[in-house]
Amino acid sequence: PQLANQIAAGEVVERPASVVKELVENSLDAGATRVDIEIDKGGSKLIRIRDNGVGIPKDELSLALSRHATSKLHSLDDLEAILSFGFRGEALASISSVSRLTLTSNTAGQSEAWQAYAEGSQMAVRVIPAAHPIGSTIEVIDLFFNTPARRRFLKSDKTEFTHIDEWLKRIALVRGEIHFTLSHNGKLVRNYRPALTQAQYLQRLAQVSDRHFAEQALRIECEHDGLRLSGYLQSPLQTRATETHYFYVNGRLVRDRLVNHAVRQAFAGQAQAEQPAYVLMLNLDPHQVDVNVHPAKHEVRFHQGRYIHDYILQALQSALEQAGE
Ligand code: ADP
Ligand code: MG
Repeated sequence: PQLANQIAAGEVVERPASVVKELVENSLDAGATRVDIEIDKGGSKLIRIRDNGVGIPKDELSLALSRHATSKLHSLDDLEAILSFGFRGEALASISSVSRLTLTSNTAGQSEAWQAYAEGSQMAVRVIPAAHPIGSTIEVIDLFFNTPARRRFLKSDKTEFTHIDEWLKRIALVRGEIHFTLSHNGKLVRNYRPALTQAQYLQRLAQVSDRHFAEQALRIECEHDGLRLSGYLQSPLQTRATETHYFYVNGRLVRDRLVNHAVRQAFAGQAQAEQPAYVLMLNLDPHQVDVNVHPAKHEVRFHQGRYIHDYILQALQSALEQAGE
């Protein structure tokens, strides 16, 4: 199974940031409200994710480390599963095959915590007693130690850490209620405190993006016919450029030209030359959109693209009009 897992790892685990992504998404799926991320040497030495989610019961620990053992997908058209992040059931097994991974977890129903790790070419899972509050800690040491080609492909620690930091920014903006921390080589680099109010969210926006954008941004909030658009748009008064362009569909960051086009069109006639900054979240019936099942691609296809485009455009235009009054 190790070889099969390593081959699968080639698809799931490209670099430390992809490990962080898979692990943090698992924490969020587990209902965590706080996720602490510790990185050493850009993630090649250590990636440790600690959460306060529901945890994994002792008798499911070894299953969690085996391939295609997902607790999240019961049938292929299980849309709930597609909305939750993970639905392939191979991230932990894959990561474990290309690193030294330990999984420590405790649940409300248990009197003690347990730790699991896979060893040997057969990846036999060992489970031993441990100490841990309710929730999980996944520790990934020496990523790619046994796949030297991949290890050589890694960039400098600084670059790999930047990829992690950028990924966390995207998730921090859409999961304001979650407390995230990120440390590198023992130093706290980010502390995104829970943003439960609008004012707190703007603080987070200032941390992730910049203060000018957060101070002046126009709030977008509109709901109509099963579509909901919310977020922030650069004010026409802001002269300083901000490179913040985030568009989420049902909680996932996507790359889509439609929203850039709508933003530019809304600003037509305004002084800005560059693409105005925005953080926009669109929520709609998942049947109205195809999410590319390859999780790294961030692509979506709307069934009624024109309609969605015009809806976004109108929401932005009316916010701009109100701001101009
Ligand atoms: P998937 O997320 O696609 O189901 P993974 O390999 O990422 O597959 O995880 C396997 C299983 O391990 C999950 O389905 C979940 O039951 C469990 N799991 C992994 N990480 C956590 C976590 N942080 N908290 C609780 N359960 C987890
Ligand atoms: Mg997962």
